[in-house]
Order: sequence, then structure tokens, then C-alpha cells
Amino acid sequence: MIFVVQKHDATNLHYDFRLESPPRSGAEGHSGVLLSWAVPKGPSLDPSVKRLAVHVEDHPLDYADFEGRLGPGYGAGAVIVWDTGPYELRDGSIDDGHLTFRLDGHKLKGGWSLRRFRENWLLVKMDDEFADRATDVLVSRPESVLSGRTIEDV
Ligand code: MN
Repeated sequence: MIFVVQKHDATNLHYDFRLESPPRSGAEGHSGVLLSWAVPKGPSLDPSVKRLAVHVEDHPLDYADFEGRLGPGYGAGAVIVWDTGPYELRDGSIDDGHLTFRLDGHKLKGGWSLRRFRENWLLVKMDDEFADRATDVLVSRPESVLSGRTIEDV
């Protein structure tokens, strides 16, 4: 299964964090979508930092490599694929209100969790060899992992 983080310069810049939905027994229709959260401040590699993640509508799996400009209407603005790669679900589900998983992206690696907190969710890096309290990866690696473009280039 794959994950993708799309940097999206809409009215408010945010990062769309998406996980390919795990197959569910007896619910074939739920496979092949991207479970999606909008993360206003983007992911942090510091395990002490909890980033607000707003659960938003599922997206089709083939949206995972979309880069370009969205037209007028909701979400208009530039999109780049800020990170992507395989991921492994370790525990939990949307219905449980928590997910733990392992990412193998270009920028995001190792253990992460999403946990429901009141009406929203929190995205947190787990404390492992890929945790980094010193580097703001959003600043040090602003570019698309597909094209090398920054959001300003799109
Ligand atoms: Mn968005």
C-alpha cells in the first residue's frame, strides 16, 4: 500500500496526508481509495510535536501522483507530491480512532501515528531512529519528490 503527502497551496496552505485504504474483508468497495487528512502545519519529525489533522473525504487512488493547479472552486491552487512511498499498517483503523503505521518515503520514514482527538486527529512521529528534533523537513526539503519543483514553480 502507498501513502502520499501533497503540498497544496489553497486559500490556506496545507499538506494533504493520504493513506491507501487497507482491504477490508467483505467490504470490497472500500479498497482502492486514499484515506485523507488535511494537516495545516504539515508533518513534523519531532516526536514531541502533535500536528492537527482534519479528516477529509476519501480521494481516488489515482489522485496519488497528481501535481498541477486545481481550477476555480474548493481547493483551487497549486499541488505538488511532497512525499510518497510504501507504507505498512501496524495497528488500528479509522473506526478505532487510531492508526499506527510505518512509512518508507523519501522524507518521512519509520513509525507514525494518527489518533482521534475530540472532533479531529493528531499526526505524530514515533520516537525511533528516523525521529529528528533539529530539522524542519518542510523547510529543508520543500520540493516535489516526483518533479523536483517547488509549489512556487507550479
Ligand atoms: Mn487539500
